[in-house]
Amino acid sequence: MRVDIISIFPEMFDAPLSASLLGAAQEKGILDLHVHDLRDYTHDRHRSTDDAPYGGGPGMLMKPEPLFEAIEAISAMAQDTPHILFLSPGGRPFTQQVAKELSGRQRLLLVCGRYEGFDQRALDLADAELSIGDYVLTGGELPAMVVIDAVARLLPGVLGDCGSCVEESFSAGLLEYPQYTRPATYRGVEVPEVLRSGDHARIAAWRREMSLAKTLQVRPDLLSGPEGVADDG
Ligand code: SAM
Repeated sequence: MRVDIISIFPEMFDAPLSASLLGAAQEKGILDLHVHDLRDYTHDRHRSTDDAPYGGGPGMLMKPEPLFEAIEAISAMAQDTPHILFLSPGGRPFTQQVAKELSGRQRLLLVCGRYEGFDQRALDLADAELSIGDYVLTGGELPAMVVIDAVARLLPGVLGDCGSCVEESFSAGLLEYPQYTRPATYRGVEVPEVLRSGDHARIAAWRREMSLAKTLQVRPDLLSGPEGVADDG
């Protein structure tokens, strides 16, 4: 999968995306990441990417011209047409289901906002707007990293054991059951007997029961319906 990112702080992506599994995915050629500096698509002496909002109001907005030019130029850098995603608190909630859908695409282009967000004409270039949660961050860089991490680990060959993506939280609409490793007793707390029994049917039933109980207690909303999808079009 090719992923292009547009940001005015491209250096923010260096360490998080080169470490661990994402670094290995790039070395293996599974993930092809390109971070672009939006300021390379400006033409004034100050390399401005923002301007004041029409109608007044606090803060500045990301102006449309550099965004249009960057998206057009970067889209033409490879054969596949990118699926264009703007990170925005007003976007569709990013969920495991959305990550799964995005992992089936050949190419993504993520656009990171700053200031008070985007001029609407630039935002209209998006195939989808994505929000990583009901809170406001200073910029779209951390949300873009969250999206890339969640999507990339679903690409074939990124995780060693694909069973882990099938069984983990949200994959079946439930939170994950409690897990234990050695020692069997630690500080007086024992690993549940069923997990040491070797009885796979009992273990599966116990895990399902624990998943249901935890989901009911912490996230009852997950039990009540399907999640949204990441495509406005
Ligand atoms: N004025 C905007 C609003 O009320 O929706 C908030 C702008 S925020 C300070 C600046 C940028 O950070 C946004 O354009 C977006 O790219 C990013 N951002 C902030 N919170 C986000 C979230 N929860 N999900 C995705 N992107 C977010």
